[in-house]
Amino acid sequence: MSQEYRGVWVFLERRGDEVIEPSLEVLGKARELADRYGDNVAGVLMGAKNLEIQAETAIKYGADVVYIVEDPLLEDYSTIPYSEALSRLVKKYKPNIMLYPATRNGRDLAGRISAKLGLGLSANTVWLDIVGDGVLLAGVPGFGGGIMAVTKCLTKPQMSTVRPGAFSKPRLNPMREGRIEKVDVGKLPDPPTKTIEKVFFTVEDISKAEAIVIAGIGVRENIEAVKKLSEKMNWAFGATRPLSDEGLVPRDIFVGATGKVVKPKIALIVGASGAAHFISGVAGAEKIISINIDPEAPIHSYSDYSVVGDAYKIIPKLLQRLEAERR
Ligand SMILES: Cc1cc2nc3c(=O)[nH]c(=O)nc-3n(C[C@H](O)[C@H](O)[C@H](O)COP(=O)(O)OP(=O)(O)OC[C@H]3O[C@@H](n4cnc5c(N)ncnc54)[C@H](O)[C@@H]3O)c2cc1C
Repeated sequence: MSQEYRGVWVFLERRGDEVIEPSLEVLGKARELADRYGDNVAGVLMGAKNLEIQAETAIKYGADVVYIVEDPLLEDYSTIPYSEALSRLVKKYKPNIMLYPATRNGRDLAGRISAKLGLGLSANTVWLDIVGDGVLLAGVPGFGGGIMAVTKCLTKPQMSTVRPGAFSKPRLNPMREGRIEKVDVGKLPDPPTKTIEKVFFTVEDISKAEAIVIAGIGVRENIEAVKKLSEKMNWAFGATRPLSDEGLVPRDIFVGATGKVVKPKIALIVGASGAAHFISGVAGAEKIISINIDPEAPIHSYSDYSVVGDAYKIIPKLLQRLEAERR
């Protein structure tokens, strides 16, 4: 192993006072990778103040050391101060591997660090392995999920964003001990924008759903009815990417190669064609039921049960039936 570059690092993204679950999933994988070639795991926590509790939590989930950078400019995620702070840390400590959860902020930060420091980055990976003395191999689903490209970064730190849900959250070990180190990275640049008001939306994490209804663009005129159906059945609600691209549903609920991976016991897919980019996010479902007006739509070949018909007529009937049964 190169003595110059050491450690498997993880960007510990926070939401308020908590390290988000995708970061903990990455931490678990980092632990496994580091153990394979005898290296240590470090977490990076950034925020305004009082990050010790989150740092302790990260240690109990597998970190050996947590670097804390505190600055009022780091209270909420913002590209410029976050990327500046992290790039200074990376230059100072020279990690061998730097992993980020492939969340919106994680992707933004990794891309910025990659450009800033001229580093390779394997994006949105679903598989990671170590060969030799700490060489990271990263599996990136390509060509619509039909193949997985195994990639290797030729620069250090070797960087990768890891898709939420690709790895399981590790078990918390309350007895685990580690080191917390506060690092002064110097004065950070002001972000070019200022937050005036924060509005919080709580979006369900569909990647853990046991049952899900997924709407495609074929039902764009009545997404509300499909959503209502999911609520009435107490199933999660997801969508295909075009609905999210058009701003008709939140970004956090689209399924597929570039969105969430779901592994429910059952998925009802309505008005989606079954494009490869979408299917790769739902292929882990135990049972798929689809409703599509086109008998030739590819989605039928992935379905255990197919309904060929007009969803605008079928969904209201299903809702009526559910309501009648409830009475
Ligand atoms: C790099 C890249 C990454 C991508 N990543 C993703 C991703 O992560 N997730 C994703 O979803 N997409 C992704 N896409 C887009 C993807 O390739 C498809 O374009 C998309 O999945 C299609 O969405 P859809 O099935 O909703 O729409 P369409 O393919 O347009 O299908 C709509 C379906 O609705 C049916 N329909 C129409 N009217 C009705 C009706 N009344 N009742 C019943 N059925 C009806 C039609 O027969 C049709 O089959 C990506 C594309 C690229 C290039």
